[in-house]
Amino acid sequence: MTSRNHSAFDDPLPEPGSVRRTLNHLLPVGFAVIGISLSMVLGHLDAQREQNEQVANLAARLSGVRGALEAQLRSAFSEAEGIAQLISADGTISDEHFRGMARDALASVPYMRHIALAPDDVIRQVYPLEGNQRILGLDYRRLPEQLPLVASARERHTPVLAGPLQLYQGGRALIYRRPVFVNGKRGVSFYWGSVSVVADIDRLLLAAGLRPEAGFELAVRGSDGKGAEGELIWGSAELFDYPQVKVNVEVPGGVWEMVAAPRGGWSALNLFSSPLFLFALSCTGLFSLFVAQLNRKQRLLELRNRELRQYQAQLERLAHYDTITGLPNRVLFQQQLSTAIRQGHGLAVLMLDIDGFKQVNDSLGHPMGDLLLQQATARFLQELDTQDRVCRLGGDEFVFMLQGAQGQVNHQIRALLRCLQRPFDLNGNASLVTGSIGLAWCPQHGEDADSLLRHADTAMYAAKESGRNAWRPYLPDMTERLQQRLELERNLRRALERNEFELWYQPKLDLFSGRLEGVEALLRWRDPDHGLVSPAEFIPLAERTGLIIPLGERVLELACVQLAAWRASNSLPGPLAINVAALQIERSDYVTSLASALERHGLPANLLEVEITESLLMESQQQACAVLAQLQAMGVATAVDDFGTGYSSLAYLRALPIDHLKIDRAFIKDLPGDDDAVAIARAIIDLGHALGFRITAEGIETQAQYDFLRNAGCDQGQGFLLGRPMPAEALQQWLTDNQALRRLPAS
Ligand code: C2E
Ligand code: MG
Ligand code: MG
Repeated sequence: MTSRNHSAFDDPLPEPGSVRRTLNHLLPVGFAVIGISLSMVLGHLDAQREQNEQVANLAARLSGVRGALEAQLRSAFSEAEGIAQLISADGTISDEHFRGMARDALASVPYMRHIALAPDDVIRQVYPLEGNQRILGLDYRRLPEQLPLVASARERHTPVLAGPLQLYQGGRALIYRRPVFVNGKRGVSFYWGSVSVVADIDRLLLAAGLRPEAGFELAVRGSDGKGAEGELIWGSAELFDYPQVKVNVEVPGGVWEMVAAPRGGWSALNLFSSPLFLFALSCTGLFSLFVAQLNRKQRLLELRNRELRQYQAQLERLAHYDTITGLPNRVLFQQQLSTAIRQGHGLAVLMLDIDGFKQVNDSLGHPMGDLLLQQATARFLQELDTQDRVCRLGGDEFVFMLQGAQGQVNHQIRALLRCLQRPFDLNGNASLVTGSIGLAWCPQHGEDADSLLRHADTAMYAAKESGRNAWRPYLPDMTERLQQRLELERNLRRALERNEFELWYQPKLDLFSGRLEGVEALLRWRDPDHGLVSPAEFIPLAERTGLIIPLGERVLELACVQLAAWRASNSLPGPLAINVAALQIERSDYVTSLASALERHGLPANLLEVEITESLLMESQQQACAVLAQLQAMGVATAVDDFGTGYSSLAYLRALPIDHLKIDRAFIKDLPGDDDAVAIARAIIDLGHALGFRITAEGIETQAQYDFLRNAGCDQGQGFLLGRPMPAEALQQWLTDNQALRRLPAS
């Protein structure tokens, strides 16, 4: 129903996309996957680097071994060179000479076993002879396994290394064969034979550094200098299956192949042994956790932000919308009105107040009052055009902003009043209310929001004063009246502060005996500028502004002071009646404050009587009824004032705690000439009596009225004929002047 006013807030808040949320959830997982992959690549590279390092390391050591081996071989067989050179000079060498050179060689190279001379490839000399006699006379040409090498050395003119081979003398050895050529005449050289050096291969290799404790495994192959094709010389043949590190060793007349592997084999490519992999993996874990945590924080922040936005929207709603009706409140309406004023003229501002709303609230309770406001709002919105606006100012006050020509606006106002006249169904309680509307035009009655609202409000009061269920356009003199009212209010406050109030007293007589039965206290304001002001002028305003509360307290106090004084001077004129306004009764503490005033002044309750107007009784029935019952129970007499004006029925009053009925002056003034007045007066008196009330007639001005009322059986009378309201001193004089009245015996 309030869509036109709510449009800005009805849209749901923008939800962050679910796609983004999913991505946010996946982000840490994504980081983890990428991180683990990267860690694996890094780890792999790291492991490979380590392996390469191991290979390079081993290769370096292997080339060291090769160097040592080649050096050992060179030094081992260099001795043969000297002998060969000597022979090549003339094809001979003396026995001593050979033995001397061979002895020196064997002494300097510990693993050398013997040196032999084989002219024409037949061994003729050997050193040492001991243990080697068996080889003397050995013909290489008859040894098929030796012959090819011997032939090769001879053909290529280079030494060759044979073996390892099993020696006739026992043991495994390498044989270095140096072919010797003798320089003949005319520069022609001829093959002499060979010098061979036999060395213990195992000791030679040991001297070159091939030891089992080297920290890595070695293998050498290439017997007879045949490289990869040669047989295994040293170590395990398996090392050649998957060689990682391999070098060639230059040996006389050929090569050996040497491979190495770490002892215990090559370490397998293990990621978890890579510190880099472990480091990268840890970093990935930590980073993913960090991202997840960050993500969580971000989500929390988003959660929280959404709450904040909702809270802000709620605050905005509270700040700009009425919670009961959902309509814009005064703040928002004023903004809307200001905008509409800026955009162009021809605006009508309506102020509407629901008449009788207070009674609904009082009698049915606030929830029903709220329901009425909601139902009324729904009806208003049905009557409005799309460009019109409505707001609830608070209480039962609504403001409308209508666009259109005068005739159209008038038509809409009447429609609004009509829509309120239909009964409201408040959870089964039918309720009838009406509305009062004030109208202000822009720009005639104001060019800004404030003045338009103020003038519409003033016009609304005029409509209310005219009798409600009506509407009034604003007129400038309404403001004047309002200003007068405001001035009166100011003066009234001042009067309260300065104690400018006094009570006058009007006698109440027994109509049958003429005896004084009591007095009514009537409030007077002695304004220093305007003199004596009648309560009819200021009581209604005091009721509207709430000033009636302090004023009522003042009346109660003045009445008690006066009663106490009369008692003290033994001149009590009977019980004193005071008038009480609706607002006083509605205050929960009225009975208490009355009781405490009586107590303060040491007065019995039966000296006080309370008058409540019939219309007040009808307005706040439950509250008034409860207060009257309490007063009655205390001993304070109760009276319905101005009876006949409030549309109550006697049958209804019967149920209320009331002692007196005071017939309103309107029904007395036409007595006894007017038949209707006579009939009404008789009816009230007879029926009132039948229901057990004492009847008082107000405003008796003529003897004829007095006579009629006394004959009709009216109990008590009050009026200018019997005694005008007068100050306390004047009352004393009146009492003196009317001694007889006082002295009349009680009936
Ligand atoms: P009310 O209580 O009905 O008081 C009677 C009114 O009728 C008084 O007017 C009184 O001066 C006037 N009156 C009495 N006899 C005659 C008469 O023979 N002819 C004419 N024409 N008038 C007569 P007043 O004093 O101006 O008071 C007016 C109303 O103001 C009171 O009507 C009462 O409702 C209210 N009022 C007066 N004092 C107080 C007060 O202290 N508190 C409250 N809440 N209301 C008060
Ligand atoms: Mg009265
Ligand atoms: Mg009266």
